[in-house]
Amino acid sequence: MTTQNISGKTQILGVIGHPVNHTGSPAMQNHMCQQLGLDYVYVAFNVAPDQLESAISGIRALHIKGVNVTIPHKEAVIPFLDELDPLAEKIGAVNTIVNQNGRLIGYNTDGRGFLIALMQELQIDVNNKRIIILGAGGSGKAIAHTIAEKPINSLIIANRTAEKAHQLAQLCQAQGTALSDLTLASLTDADIVINTTALGMGDHQNQCPVTAFSWVSTKHLICDIIYNPSETPFLSQCRQKGATTLNGIGMLAGQGQLAFELFTGFSADYQLLKAQLI
Ligand code: NAP
Repeated sequence: MTTQNISGKTQILGVIGHPVNHTGSPAMQNHMCQQLGLDYVYVAFNVAPDQLESAISGIRALHIKGVNVTIPHKEAVIPFLDELDPLAEKIGAVNTIVNQNGRLIGYNTDGRGFLIALMQELQIDVNNKRIIILGAGGSGKAIAHTIAEKPINSLIIANRTAEKAHQLAQLCQAQGTALSDLTLASLTDADIVINTTALGMGDHQNQCPVTAFSWVSTKHLICDIIYNPSETPFLSQCRQKGATTLNGIGMLAGQGQLAFELFTGFSADYQLLKAQLI
């Protein structure tokens, strides 16, 4: 869709967040619409927290077909929706809203987006794996609940605030621990370790969620859902020890793929979406 092709019939998609000027979603979603010849346009809406309820009413009033939801609105948006998909309800956060004839339905595609990235990039699934998730924030919750629905071997959730790790672990039938109490034995035994903490980006760019790396070996798959920088210090240390590593770009493409399919009903190509983010 180019601006010359926008007509009275063009359907509107978007992302709401605060701020939104760095989002990669418009490039990804508009490219896919263009590739498939779909009459949609996807834009970014900067919505301040005190305007969230009005913005959600606006989705109905303006017949916007669907929106992605990003920081800081993923949890706050829930009271303004008409229905939640069961996985989004478990997670307690929404990253995709679909407008079905005025009824707003909330989904969370973050965790399944992560699983898509594992399969697309490494042909790996989580079945029978021993998994450790570092972090119990919004994305930690999304990944933990999604993984807990699969036939995994075991799941440990480690978080700076131990109470949050224990609460999430209880909901996911996993083991919870303080990040500082995570043992080298658990890390050594794990097949997949996933960093979902903020350590490695922004103000925390030079920090790692764990400080010792003696446990890392070539059998480990180490994931970091941070995508900027493309290699966090955690991933770099683990790669140098011979582990397979995966950054967060694939998860971003995977959650976008699922959102596109919910918005339009058409399948989206993971590689094409990812190419728009690099
Ligand atoms: P969030 O809800 O704010 O959670 C932040 C997490 O980081 C919590 O577990 C928090 O622990 C931990 N943390 C923060 N500062 C810490 C510190 N100094 N030491 C130890 N732990 C610390 O954030 P989020 O939405 O889950 O996002 C987390 C990261 O994931 C961000 O870097 C974001 O860019 C990335 N992300 C990537 C994707 C993708 O598609 N690839 C999608 C979503 C998010 P406490 O509970 O103790 O505060």
